Amino acid sequence: MDLTFSDAEEAFRTECRSWLEANVPESPLPSGDTREGFAAHLEWERALFGARLAVVSWPTEYGGRGASLWEWLIFEEEYYRVGAPQRVTQNGIFLLAPSLFEFGTQDQRNRYLLPMAAGTETWCQGWSEPDAGSDLAGIQSRATRDEAAGGWRLSGQKTWTTRGAFCTHLFGLFRSDPDAERHRGLTYFLVPLDAAGITVRGFGRLDGDEGFAEVFFDDTLVVDDAVLGEVHQGWSVAMATAGSERGLTLRSPGRFLATARRLVDLWREHGADPLLADEVTRAVIDAEAYQLQTLAAVTRLARGEQPGADASLTKVFWSELDVRLHELAVRILGPDAERADEAWAKGYQFALAGPVYAGTNEIQRNVIAERVLGLPRR
Ligand SMILES: Cc1cc2nc3c(=O)[nH]c(=O)nc-3n(C[C@H](O)[C@H](O)[C@H](O)COP(=O)(O)OP(=O)(O)OC[C@H]3O[C@@H](n4cnc5c(N)ncnc54)[C@H](O)[C@@H]3O)c2cc1C
Repeated sequence: MDLTFSDAEEAFRTECRSWLEANVPESPLPSGDTREGFAAHLEWERALFGARLAVVSWPTEYGGRGASLWEWLIFEEEYYRVGAPQRVTQNGIFLLAPSLFEFGTQDQRNRYLLPMAAGTETWCQGWSEPDAGSDLAGIQSRATRDEAAGGWRLSGQKTWTTRGAFCTHLFGLFRSDPDAERHRGLTYFLVPLDAAGITVRGFGRLDGDEGFAEVFFDDTLVVDDAVLGEVHQGWSVAMATAGSERGLTLRSPGRFLATARRLVDLWREHGADPLLADEVTRAVIDAEAYQLQTLAAVTRLARGEQPGADASLTKVFWSELDVRLHELAVRILGPDAERADEAWAKGYQFALAGPVYAGTNEIQRNVIAERVLGLPRR
């Protein structure tokens, strides 16, 4: 592995750094998991799009620059280094878009990618249901073909839909063949949330923000072109989307390197307790190890290898690293942490959700055992 960046890559880094330093909002935006904060974040993301920095690795016709994965990693590093706002467009840009590039028709790419990059259409993820979380193949929401209307009728309920109350669109899995084996009878749909028969009900998270929604479908008609990939083959499309969530795109190393640097600053500001020095050092080393591991993964992708079940290893690593970084910060801040530093306290609460969302870490460990290590199921 060659860890030196080319002159062109360094020039790209300089461009990103100067634009971000000049444009990142001076004071933190309100939480993107509130209606007001979501709108403020979208305004920021539209400025990013104006600078052609919203989706650097996408082709130019969809608002990108055709940047390499290395350049994308450089952008991410610079983004988190300056403390830029969280990306409320992430479910579309980081999760759905890679699947649209892989499975979408040309018409679907033309229809959805540019508004997604520009932040004029925003996407939420409709997997979980009241009785289907870890056991995703157990979903009950139905898609029934309506020949007369020339489309599909959707019915059922999704839950835990992040920012569902604020988004314009949902991508999700529906059972299209109730007689097929569980994983086979599912279809992946792209649904406008203003379609007739859809009710979206936002609800609060542990921290009080309206970050979640329940989405109800009551005989909602969607057109044939709302199907991503093949009818009844939604499971493999969904697994590609989940691979992006667990693996490369959702949590780039820049995020953890920046948190580790903030942790070192916090430790110094609070008297550099020598009893915590080893743990702070370990946190920095782990963030750097994650960066190296990601560079290795990108090298494999650049050679044409497909990301596979090892995305589960990545997910376990970044989610547990995030918990360790924040737990340490809370210990440094002491018993008054929650009042002393809202950013760390909120970050800590959210870090605790990392081992749950994107598929729980228990499930990831099952995947690693069976599909990476080849251990028997029982
Ligand atoms: C912050 C956050 C954001 C989320 N955003 C979204 C979203 O946008 N869209 C969406 O669709 N969902 C979302 N989710 C839901 C998330 O995908 C589910 O919470 C997750 O898949 C677990 O499902 P569950 O909550 O039903 O738990 P369950 O599946 O009921 O699991 C309960 C516990 O049992 C364990 N368990 C279950 N089965 C096994 C097994 N076979 N082996 C070992 N242990 C097992 C689990 O690991 C867990 O600890 C979000 C969740 C969180 C926390």
